[in-house]
Amino acid sequence: MRFYLRLIKEFILNLIFPQECLGCQREGNYLCLECLNQIKFNHEFYCALCKQKSDFGLICPNCKRTSAMQAIWVAADYNDKILQDLIHALKYKYIEGISEDLAILAVKYLQHSDILSRFEINETNTMIIPVPLHHKRFLTRGFNQSELIADQIGRLLNLHKVNLLKRIKNTETQINLKRVERQNNVKEAFSLNNSSPDLTKKVILIDDVVTTGSTLKECAKVLASAGFKEIYGLVIAQRED
Ligand SMILES: [Zn+2]
Ligand SMILES: [Zn+2]
Repeated sequence: MRFYLRLIKEFILNLIFPQECLGCQREGNYLCLECLNQIKFNHEFYCALCKQKSDFGLICPNCKRTSAMQAIWVAADYNDKILQDLIHALKYKYIEGISEDLAILAVKYLQHSDILSRFEINETNTMIIPVPLHHKRFLTRGFNQSELIADQIGRLLNLHKVNLLKRIKNTETQINLKRVERQNNVKEAFSLNNSSPDLTKKVILIDDVVTTGSTLKECAKVLASAGFKEIYGLVIAQRED
């Protein structure tokens, strides 16, 4: 039923706003291949928690003391105008189809940067977990953008997506909060959906945008205390805090 509603919604949206490329306004798609190829990948690896250089996005030894994550991979540069428009259109104009373009970008980045082979990520040993949205926000938006992106990444890389986390606290939106406030805001906001997950799996947390990393850290904490050993984060872009 949900599927048909979505088709109807997309059909009506198409009548009102014919699909055109957010980059060059060419008709046909939300993002044409040319504009997709122009979005800049992150070429330098760094620790996303403190922005210091770090091989393959590994969390640096200093940040490791407060984080259960091994690495955070940031696919593209948030300063890219087309990318900002895409993320904004997905989240606030509710154009669900954009999740596919963002997923293609993330997958291209992973392949380009050799992360998949370096970290031995494959369909038998890895699952991807979207950062959950609280059900109140889910009801107003109708979807969780991180889950849509995770679905598409899972499809492209043949990785199993599992909704292993749920949000138990309806946190404020992080947008206007400072670093410390963000940490407190998401504290104890998540819990596990399943009491006996497969702890032998590597897990990759998926979110659209990371800022200070406090949400990812909090999710990782829950996964680590459940017993997961290898926890990574994959996001489309990092916004300045
Ligand atoms: Zn274009
Ligand atoms: Zn660091």
